[in-house]
Amino acid sequence: MKDKFPNIPYGLKEYVLENVLQKTPFGFSLVNEDYIFEFANDEWLNIVQKKRADILGKKMFDVFPETKDQLLSIFDDVKINKQPFYSPEQSFKLKRAGVLQDVFFNFVYQPIYSDSGDLQYFAIVVIEVTDLVSIRNKIKNEEERLRLATESSHTATWDLNLKNSKIIYSTYLSEIFEYDEAAEITHQQLRNHVIEYDRVNIVEKAFEQALITGKYQYEARIIGKKGNLKWVSTNGKIFFDQDGTPSRMLGVMQDITERKKNEILLAESHHQLNTALDATKLGRFDMDYETQKKYNFSPRFLSILGYDAETETIDSKKFEDHIHPKYLKVRTEALKQAKETGDLYYQTKIILRNGEVKWIEIYGRLLENYQGSKPYISGTIRDITELKEFEKSIKESEKKYRFLADAIPQIIWIGESDGQLTYFNQATMDYSGKNYNSFLEKGGWLDIVHPDEKEENMRLWNESVKNKMPFSYEHRFRNKNNEYRWFLSRAIPQLDEFGAVKKWVGTSTDIDEMKRLDQHKNDFIKIANHELKTPITTIKGYVQLLKKMRGDSEDQFLVNSLNTIDNQINKLNHLMGELLDISRIESGQLPLHKDYFSLLKLVTETIEDIKAAEQTHQINFKLKHASDIEVFADKDRITQVLNNLLTNAIKYSPTANKVKVTLFVEGDCAVVSVQDFGIGMDSYELNKIFDRFYRVSGKDEVTFPGFGIGLFIVKDIMDRHKGKIWVTSEKNEGSTFCFSLPLLEN
Ligand code: ADP
Repeated sequence: MKDKFPNIPYGLKEYVLENVLQKTPFGFSLVNEDYIFEFANDEWLNIVQKKRADILGKKMFDVFPETKDQLLSIFDDVKINKQPFYSPEQSFKLKRAGVLQDVFFNFVYQPIYSDSGDLQYFAIVVIEVTDLVSIRNKIKNEEERLRLATESSHTATWDLNLKNSKIIYSTYLSEIFEYDEAAEITHQQLRNHVIEYDRVNIVEKAFEQALITGKYQYEARIIGKKGNLKWVSTNGKIFFDQDGTPSRMLGVMQDITERKKNEILLAESHHQLNTALDATKLGRFDMDYETQKKYNFSPRFLSILGYDAETETIDSKKFEDHIHPKYLKVRTEALKQAKETGDLYYQTKIILRNGEVKWIEIYGRLLENYQGSKPYISGTIRDITELKEFEKSIKESEKKYRFLADAIPQIIWIGESDGQLTYFNQATMDYSGKNYNSFLEKGGWLDIVHPDEKEENMRLWNESVKNKMPFSYEHRFRNKNNEYRWFLSRAIPQLDEFGAVKKWVGTSTDIDEMKRLDQHKNDFIKIANHELKTPITTIKGYVQLLKKMRGDSEDQFLVNSLNTIDNQINKLNHLMGELLDISRIESGQLPLHKDYFSLLKLVTETIEDIKAAEQTHQINFKLKHASDIEVFADKDRITQVLNNLLTNAIKYSPTANKVKVTLFVEGDCAVVSVQDFGIGMDSYELNKIFDRFYRVSGKDEVTFPGFGIGLFIVKDIMDRHKGKIWVTSEKNEGSTFCFSLPLLEN
């Protein structure tokens, strides 16, 4: 073996190799130009995990064949360039203990040359840094992971040096503040983005708090560089120096705008709900269904229970204590029911602290396991004390009125909107001797109505029900002794605000006595009429005779007297006729004798007759139809109608001098109209003038004598002809009376 270190004394060389290199803490080996190991220190052997004997005198790539590809070129480079090769943290594959491992070495390949300049050795220095590198890699990976995690969870990180205000932050922070990724933002710039109010009231306060607790936390609003308003949430930690001065702050920041928007929306909808509840005066509560402990009593809930919501609060036990002992069972039942139906509902009395008793109504819904939460009841409370009192007073007043209704002798009944009668007072039972239930059966009341009136009674009642018009009918009811008495039944519909019938309220008044008196009166009128007829006819006959004999006398007084007597007798006759008619109408004994006749002829003849007696007015007649008009009616009665209208037209137009009569056809009716230009009437009078004895009141009444029965009879005649009579009139302008008769009568 050649002397490799000829300048070093032999002994020293050996010493250095043996003692110094051998013991150094780095691996050291020598391979010659043929890559044969000539020296390796303990550390080197340790690193490659070989025994000295395994390698000395052996070729490097025979011992470590796996390294050939990795190292040969490096050695070649060193050979050519004659420069040492340094490679820190060189990644390397090495078989150790039979396993190929990834290792990291800090390498130095130092070529050693002979005096003649030939390459003699490669000195290989190796320090294993595998652990160091892997720890560092691990840290790097961790950091990367953290970065990815924060970035993907939209969390920015920041690191603030509190001493010089230098801040380091992740790119996502720039994004939150709407800066370019590359922009360098100072801490002060960042702070300037915080809305002034929040900076003073939230951020600075959070910092003060952090100085005490070490925890930095806030949610505040910022305006991004591009002008967008955002909500951010920050969580951080303060680090202190050994002397206790804060030196550094680390933390994360998130953009929580979306969440806040939702929170605000939620708060708004809560607010709306509360406003709505407020308007309905409902209190609210939530209750854990399993434990039945209540919580979340709203302020109104508390105030209904007599607590000052601002300063007091209660728990479920306190609430229960307020429930009137008598109603505890009701509540328990309702809670049980809620489990089955999902609905909680009960009314209970409660006793307040001051002893006051109130009624409350609880309504709630059982919400089962909503999103994993425990089943709970969400509900409302309502103070129904007033309602209850109202109900009570209604019941009392109903009782009172029933008592009253039962106490009076008049028959009172109530019907539903469909006409079915559902209530009768005691007088009904007392009179008829029938029991209550027999009246409630459909049409049960009809049983006591006289057979002669049953049909008409039903017809009129159904008509009233259908048209929602008042009902009025005179009929006989059978009493418990099977005798009939006359009753006048009337009913009016009670309408709701939409015009629908709520109820019918009816009365039946005993008019039997009145009827009897009426009958007497009618009998009297008939007899009187009959008895007076003979003397009147006789007088009239003699007057006619006298007029014929002395009508052309020179004696003006005589002539005038005869005319006056004749006129007055006619009037008397007319009056007697009307009185007789009215008594006949009332006792239903005014028969019609119908026949076909020419209406045109009737009208013209009647006008002629009137003209003969009354010369004050001109009567103009107009036929507005191409041909004669034939009707089927009682000729005398229709004459009476027209006569009456014409007489009235003349009578009530003293300052006018004409009356217009028109005959025409409208639809399937013949119409006769009588128009005058007299005193007329106010519109409110118009539907009353056809009533019996009705006369327009006022000063005219004196001027125009009369009984007020003419139009009543006219109306009755027209009704019984299924014809119509109507009037239009204007005060001081005149009136137009029309009557119509159906053309197709059979
Ligand atoms: P009377 O005997 O009073 O005329 P009627 O029944 O014929 O009775 O008429 C009832 C009321 O109607 C009269 O009192 C009068 O006030 C009013 N009346 C009837 N016809 C006319 C008319 N043509 N013009 C104005 N008022 C009239």
